[in-house]
Amino acid sequence: MIDLHIHTTASDGTLSPKELIEYAKQKNLSVIAITDHDSISSLDEAISEGKKKNIIVIPGIEFSTEYNYKEVHILGYFIDYKNKELLNTIKSLKNERINRTYKIIDKLKQNGINISIEDIEKEAKGDVISRMHISNVLLNKKYVSTKAEAFEKYLGIGKLAYVERELTPLKAIEVIKKSGGLAVLAHPKLIDLENEKEFISLLAKNNLDGIETYYPGFSSSDIDRYINFCNIYNLIPTGGSDFHGHNRLTSDLNMLKLPQKIYLNMLNRLNI
Ligand code: AMP
Ligand code: MN
Ligand code: MN
Ligand code: MN
Repeated sequence: MIDLHIHTTASDGTLSPKELIEYAKQKNLSVIAITDHDSISSLDEAISEGKKKNIIVIPGIEFSTEYNYKEVHILGYFIDYKNKELLNTIKSLKNERINRTYKIIDKLKQNGINISIEDIEKEAKGDVISRMHISNVLLNKKYVSTKAEAFEKYLGIGKLAYVERELTPLKAIEVIKKSGGLAVLAHPKLIDLENEKEFISLLAKNNLDGIETYYPGFSSSDIDRYINFCNIYNLIPTGGSDFHGHNRLTSDLNMLKLPQKIYLNMLNRLNI
């Protein structure tokens, strides 16, 4: 079985690469992809730990982008994570995230909320600061009673402390393709698109390779719709749990029990 959407401590997951591989073994996974937000810093360790435990680790990433006031995540698989342009993009996204965090702290302050950069840094174990970490601080300091409330009131797109992003989906696809990878639209159902078909068609014309069709909470009619889009636009379906350790209690590793065939189709696509 395989799971192609996993976060570690490099971004907003709670397991280190080594812990993740041990857990993947327990969960009977033979192929996984590590897809941290805008980060590749767990990949070397995950791949070498994977070799010890006979688990294939696909080098991956999940880029956060924005399109028409919607949050769009683009997954990259089989990326050459030493590629210069990819590394430059990651470096500037890391800086953008730091600047964004200071702006969010300011906006929260204007709304009567006092949290510091140190509070947030304590939550972040890797090199990427995410709104997940900020929501943990808001929850711990009892400014909100659930993480969902933190996003609904402050951190979500268009909310009181939201800060725009610069990367676009088309640019993310371009960087992934230039580093030899496959580009996949992550959890399309969560984007809340007005015209999903038109958007997927646009990405497909700009070198998208696949759609994340299997994802926690997707209904069988969602899955059928995405398989249909894959057929229309010559894309491949992929899937994963979006595991974040105890930062996201609604998803667990290998909860979807996805077959090896999805991985084999990705390998075929790479050889085109
Ligand atoms: P960022 O990478 O900084 O854009 O932060 C986004 C991350 O916050 C996502 O990857 C999720 O892990 C988490 N997140 C986004 N929306 C919510 C929500 N409504 N409730 C809980 N966590 C969320
Ligand atoms: Mn996340
Ligand atoms: Mn995502
Ligand atoms: Mn994710």
